[in-house]
Amino acid sequence: MFGMSFGKVAVLVAIIAIVWFGFRWFQRWEKERREAADGRGAGRLNRGREAPGAGAKAREPEVMTACRICGAYVAPGARSCGKPNCPFPRA
Ligand SMILES: [Zn+2]
Repeated sequence: MFGMSFGKVAVLVAIIAIVWFGFRWFQRWEKERREAADGRGAGRLNRGREAPGAGAKAREPEVMTACRICGAYVAPGARSCGKPNCPFPRA
């Protein structure tokens, strides 16, 4: 370590930071791409193009139940959100 100049250490740190943030960015991009591909992210991405409320009402049947703990609306038989008091069964 002492054999390295401050400049070399700074460059090394910069390279590590670039690789790290690049990796993080890639993971996020990959996740968004996957979600868009299987349609889970499609609703979020396309919401602006739909008329407000249209389709959402048709696609939201009354069987949807709101989790008392996390507030998320889930279909019957849905799995727990992971919170300790979640009423839904765990996986
Ligand atoms: Zn829950």
